[in-house]
Amino acid sequence: MHTFQCRSCAFVGQFGASYVYELAGKPCPKCKKFGEWQDYKDEMAPTILAREDEKLERLRIDQQQLVVRRDKCQLEFTAAAEARQALESRYERLVKVDAVQAAKLMNDLFKATMRLVTAGNDLEDASAQLKDVDEEIDNLGNRSAVKKDAPVAYANARNVQQTSGKNKLYIGSRQYVSLHARKSPKKKFRILDVPNWSPGLNVSWVEGGIRAKAQFKIKLNQGDQYADIPPKVLQLFQDPANYNADDFFKLCKAQGKGSLLWYDKDGAERPTWTALEIWCLLRAGYTFRFADSKTDGAGRKIVLMPPL
Ligand SMILES: [Zn+2]
Repeated sequence: MHTFQCRSCAFVGQFGASYVYELAGKPCPKCKKFGEWQDYKDEMAPTILAREDEKLERLRIDQQQLVVRRDKCQLEFTAAAEARQALESRYERLVKVDAVQAAKLMNDLFKATMRLVTAGNDLEDASAQLKDVDEEIDNLGNRSAVKKDAPVAYANARNVQQTSGKNKLYIGSRQYVSLHARKSPKKKFRILDVPNWSPGLNVSWVEGGIRAKAQFKIKLNQGDQYADIPPKVLQLFQDPANYNADDFFKLCKAQGKGSLLWYDKDGAERPTWTALEIWCLLRAGYTFRFADSKTDGAGRKIVLMPPL
């Protein structure tokens, strides 16, 4: 997906097209003008943060409707279970005295069972949809805190040279990276360290580092598949080192499932936050540099280097 901007109203959008000419017939969704598209290479965080606010509004409405639906399904399920139970009791009492009545009741019992199964499926479906929406809302974080922290995270990354003595930041599995950062007082300035979190806030931090032309070291934990990148994929970053940002997410999905690059647990299907960070860097012209690591072994010191 290429990112384009409207010259007229500054709207930033992502479209399936690769070139401006392919968008020539497409109006700007905001100002409705044609022919105003230009490639957008600048910072994404302000746009992402604004869209998160809009998305959260929509999700809250979905969430309310789903709670109503889930509760209604729950009532229907309970009623169906009780109705079936009542029929079953009647059947047990009747079967000893009246075979004809019992056969009719048997038929009712079968129908009641089917209604119970349907109600159970509906309830499960509504609960699953609600869980997805709850998780999406969760991922957008606490909005007022996120908006307060985004410029702070940006500045922290931008000033990492002054605070940590090196123009270097660490990315990777959050847990593993913060463990690493605790090893020295200087290192703690090289990670995103905020209590609140959203994709837009994360991108703010990365873009602060990009503005400072900081190096981004990917910390990999060989013992944990979710904190590591498969060797086959790492190979693709070595040749060529300037891996295409547009191909990157496709690669994450195709070959990075269950790794540091793609999150597919609990029904989710999305790039990890580390993949989002790497994508921002590739988009800004960063290239991979591989070296041997004293602690992690040959070819395992992986740094994303800023463009010259
Ligand atoms: Zn426009």
